[in-house]
Amino acid sequence: MSSIKTIVISGGTHGNELTGIKLFEKWSSHKECYADRCPSASIALVHTNIEASKICRRYADIDLNRSFSNKLLALNAPNAYEIRRAQELNQKYGPKGPQTKTDLIIDVHNTEANMGLCLILSTRDPFTMRASAELVCEFSTAHIYYQPEERGESPYFGTIAKADICLEVGPQNHGTIRADLFEQTEKIVIRYLELAEEWNRGVLQQKPKKKVSVFTQYKDIDYPRDPQKNILAMIHQNIQGKDYLEVKPGMPMFRTFDGKDVPYSGERSVWPIFIHEGSYYEKHIAMSLTLKTEEEW
Ligand SMILES: [Zn+2]
Repeated sequence: MSSIKTIVISGGTHGNELTGIKLFEKWSSHKECYADRCPSASIALVHTNIEASKICRRYADIDLNRSFSNKLLALNAPNAYEIRRAQELNQKYGPKGPQTKTDLIIDVHNTEANMGLCLILSTRDPFTMRASAELVCEFSTAHIYYQPEERGESPYFGTIAKADICLEVGPQNHGTIRADLFEQTEKIVIRYLELAEEWNRGVLQQKPKKKVSVFTQYKDIDYPRDPQKNILAMIHQNIQGKDYLEVKPGMPMFRTFDGKDVPYSGERSVWPIFIHEGSYYEKHIAMSLTLKTEEEW
């Protein structure tokens, strides 16, 4: 991206993830918190899933953050609130594709997993890579998760912009808010804005690249289940809360209710994240496995 002229900072894409919602509320009435951090761009604050936030649930009808694929955005007269809202947001801040009005979306989420500040990139965009590399060096709990997506098919809100960061902050129970995580989130969003300003001035491009660990999406895995889809085992206590740590083949991954270990049966090491995310039970995801590489960004 040559320069960043329009930025959307959003919260409440999931209505029970309160950090982004509270950040939206605070900044909406205190423009001085963010406005002068990136004067070269226009910044919009957006509360994405308003109806779900009212009832403090992830979604009202369906998951808003799975509603931004080209297919759903083109759906005629949809019934689900979230598809209607996705189409409305796409009209206002998109349209998804090369003609989009928005250069950068920073979408703030929470997770119950112990992921700290997880910076999720869906493309190898030069600005989001460069800025995120700076920030993992500045924030001790920040990690880069690269989740490559075909942008047209991708259902995430951020994909209606040219580039996006999905910020996953945890561990925080849904429907609750933690002070430490709120303050870290506010700080890192401000730093993204400052780095966008540096990018627009050509300063960030001149800084030496940083060596960073990149966790790339490999595959999601489900809990062991019986034919009726009942869960047969829990996340193993050795990996509960240990996102980003290496799991080698044969190491315990799940634990049955009668105390037996279920080992990881893959053929190569993996680095699980989103371990035991509560809202992924319904998606049949126990954790997302990633592969770790060292790269210069
Ligand atoms: Zn979320």
